[in-house]
Amino acid sequence: MNKKPISIMWESTIACGLACKHCKASAKKTPDPDELSTEEAMDLVDQMVEFGKPYPILRITGGNALMRDDIFEIIKCAKGEGLNVTIAPSTTPLLNRENITKLKEAGTDVVAISIDGADAESHDNFRGVKGTFDTMVKATQIMNDVKLPFRLLTTVTKFNVRNLPEIFLLSKRLGAIGWYLYMLIPTGRGKIEHGISPAEFEDVFNFIYDLMKYRVMTINAIAGSEPFRRVAIMRRLVEEGKLNEEVLRLGELYRFLKNKLDNLLSSGSFEKIEVSAKKKHNNFGKGIFVSRNGSVYPSSFMPIEIGNVLNDRLAHIYASAEILRDLNNTKKLKGRCGICEFNDVCRGSRSRAYAVTGDYLAEDPYCAYQPGTVGKREGNEAILQELRVTNFSRQAPSL
Ligand code: SF4
Repeated sequence: MNKKPISIMWESTIACGLACKHCKASAKKTPDPDELSTEEAMDLVDQMVEFGKPYPILRITGGNALMRDDIFEIIKCAKGEGLNVTIAPSTTPLLNRENITKLKEAGTDVVAISIDGADAESHDNFRGVKGTFDTMVKATQIMNDVKLPFRLLTTVTKFNVRNLPEIFLLSKRLGAIGWYLYMLIPTGRGKIEHGISPAEFEDVFNFIYDLMKYRVMTINAIAGSEPFRRVAIMRRLVEEGKLNEEVLRLGELYRFLKNKLDNLLSSGSFEKIEVSAKKKHNNFGKGIFVSRNGSVYPSSFMPIEIGNVLNDRLAHIYASAEILRDLNNTKKLKGRCGICEFNDVCRGSRSRAYAVTGDYLAEDPYCAYQPGTVGKREGNEAILQELRVTNFSRQAPSL
């Protein structure tokens, strides 16, 4: 197991003004009374420093972190200690010029905000509040103005999957340094019926692989996207003539997305983009999740408590949690993931296995792959490293 996590995702508050369809936190209008105080949040920063250099990245999430009056002070404290800090605020009127400027002045490295539709109607419908799309667009303009880098996040659901080409092109047009895609994991308000089928996931992963080739910004397939690593390797093998394309089993959704992107690019409705030789560096990997009251979980999508930063130290919790070892042990995986020749680089989404079956070691029920189809081979890790494929959890820094 990695000796330390790459990042700590801290749920700074449950309070949020939106009501998004996929919200894992099931955010509310007001904060909970037992949320970490300013001093406790600063102690969390100290606990992160105890892991030693290179420190884990502090990823501040919510709810809406901007609903905490002390958020800028906490970011300044984390930056003073030498941490990298990203923040994912909700796109409400609080994401205004004044607060964006304060985020910049506090030293925030990257802001992450959501884009779940390519137009106001679809985005606002998903987010549950009218005007959110316009707020998001305006915020990106301000961040461009003040030179605060931002990435855009999309949760892929059945509501937006057919608009991924437009969302990709819009993300680029808005000036994002990256576009990160989450595959819906049915927790909180995210319901299984909002998701897409295993065959459709396969098509989306293949489409994401195509998009990565443009290299116009970092594209990351993150939570719920573990089988993407297997797809990326298979695509590379096809390109090298080592695998028959039929094995990819590209479906109707893939062809639809690819044709739509090609049409949009040739119609001139978006500026032309071309495949660039420039490689983008991805820095994303396994993290752990600290909830608003200090409880610690293997991930934000896996509600199995492994400790609390108020009565233990994070480094001790991380080192002693049996479940974290289990999650990294391919020998313990069950079902298809247990026998899969890709399980050393994939392992399936443990959060999705847990959400759907109640067993975090069960096979990923939303992976369409039949183990043995490609066969065991060496060099998978090298392909992923070269492709800079995302969320590649084995790349954690060692002590
Ligand atoms: S069967 Fe499991 S380990 Fe294999 S590719 Fe699918 S999710 Fe990954």
